[in-house]
Amino acid sequence: MSSIRFLPLVDAHAHVNMEDFDSDLDSLLHRSQCGIFPQIKGFQVADPVFKPFIAGLISPGVDLASSFKAIELAQKYDFVFAAVGFHPNHVAQATQDDWEECERLALENPNSNKIMALGETGLDRYWDYSPIERQRDFLVRTLDLGLRANLPVIIHSRETNGEITELLRDFYSNVPNSPETTHGVVHSFSGTPEQAEELVELGFYLGFGGFVTYTNRKFADLWEAARRIPANRILLETDCPFLTPHPLRGKLERNEPLTTIFVAKRLAELRDVSIAEIVEQTNRNAVRLFRLPSLREKPLNC
Ligand SMILES: [Zn+2]
Repeated sequence: MSSIRFLPLVDAHAHVNMEDFDSDLDSLLHRSQCGIFPQIKGFQVADPVFKPFIAGLISPGVDLASSFKAIELAQKYDFVFAAVGFHPNHVAQATQDDWEECERLALENPNSNKIMALGETGLDRYWDYSPIERQRDFLVRTLDLGLRANLPVIIHSRETNGEITELLRDFYSNVPNSPETTHGVVHSFSGTPEQAEELVELGFYLGFGGFVTYTNRKFADLWEAARRIPANRILLETDCPFLTPHPLRGKLERNEPLTTIFVAKRLAELRDVSIAEIVEQTNRNAVRLFRLPSLREKPLNC
């Protein structure tokens, strides 16, 4: 019998700090580290060759309360790391005091709270929850704080890819840039190959999640972007509880960190490399961008 190969995964964007996970959070985080998938009727998730498990997870804030929750989880679980910030759909409610508290968290010894990034921030024109000017204001503030605190920024962009690219180009035009400069990640990337290349040039990683796994031809541009960008700028993510990847879409009540493996499989297929290679490369990328400590190589024994 061939031996099983462990695949330690980093989910670079997991909202495990959201209430969707409240009822069973501890068991979910435990089995994520063990590589135990939820039971799905009529569907076999387990793989005879690979044993994926979650070795690292970035939990972004969408407002001040969820940022604190991310910190709390990061304190409790060694494989969880926090990001603090305000999601564009939540900035209408964010107060000046909230912002100052976030600033304080980022600037005063973020290490002790395991704050590895700011965010998520960005622009969203799909939903209409916050005026776009306020979204832009929070995005620029967060980019500026990222430079002051020396923390990468996690950016959300929904139906705003051209706009975001332009804003970032403008913002960083006065900041010295080299091929090694990195400012953050555009998470759940959904743009064109050209936008992907420009974001990489501007110093960003691209986070790939559910979208890239979907089989509808309308995602063909995104598949091409995933093929084209340099391997050292790719991150894997779930954006759970949202965006369950194919082939689990519609089969899970909520997405969860372990489905990162299906994103890895899809990227391996698109880029014509092995799953193990994608996983190793994207783990190195996550460790470098978020300055993570070394990751566990084997799943917890459950
Ligand atoms: Zn998110």
